[in-house]
Amino acid sequence: MTANELRKLYVSYYKERGHKLAAATSLVPENDASVLYTTAGMQPLVPYLLEKEHPLGKRLVNVQRCVRTGDIEEVGDDYHLTVFEMLGNWSLGDYFKKEAITMSFEFLTEKLNIPVSSLAVTVYKGNDKVPYDAEATQTWLELGLSKEQIFYYGDDENWWGPAGETGPCGPDSEMFYVNDLPDCSEECGPACSCGKYVELGNNVFMAYNKDKDGNLTELKQKNVDVGLGFERLLILANNLQNVYETDLFVPLINKWKK
Ligand SMILES: [Zn+2]
Repeated sequence: MTANELRKLYVSYYKERGHKLAAATSLVPENDASVLYTTAGMQPLVPYLLEKEHPLGKRLVNVQRCVRTGDIEEVGDDYHLTVFEMLGNWSLGDYFKKEAITMSFEFLTEKLNIPVSSLAVTVYKGNDKVPYDAEATQTWLELGLSKEQIFYYGDDENWWGPAGETGPCGPDSEMFYVNDLPDCSEECGPACSCGKYVELGNNVFMAYNKDKDGNLTELKQKNVDVGLGFERLLILANNLQNVYETDLFVPLINKWKK
């Protein structure tokens, strides 16, 4: 599967499920002084996560080029890049956890043929203010994951939100490909960076708004923000070892070799 075929497959999968294609935006964000570069597909959508109505409706899909420097020390391994594409889909006050997880799961297992047994997922375990995410767990179990494939983490790993700032936030449920490697230690799991678990994407359930005192109130409009790592899925769809073997890099590398 070429990179272009994967982009098309993804967009058409979500279009068939009622999503409209939102055009990708500039790498240099407009009207957003909080970042130098666009780091995620959801960034241009922030105004629509609270109450502003999106002109394309409540279900969106897009492919967004992003720049992230946070992972720069990892670049050179099999999966990490500073410039990459993110496959994103959103529910703006439409469907919620069960539908979002089910669509993510079916895309990975039915469209990309990733074996269910090679997946692991994480679920928010709750804190003193927000309960454990029972609905996410239940959905993953109903889709056929075993209890051993579901890992529970707290605010550090499974809570999405603008750190220390105000705005929409909520629990998330990440999806991982499990490489055929032994556990590196007793604590080995999706949060481990030993290489056994490769993050494929995240389902973020924006159910709360955080105020400047850190108080959470439930949002009237509950949103879902799903982001999938395009290059990583391209590796898996082609049974490759690393991003440099994909058709995003091979033509460039061959040119340098000449
Ligand atoms: Zn490990």
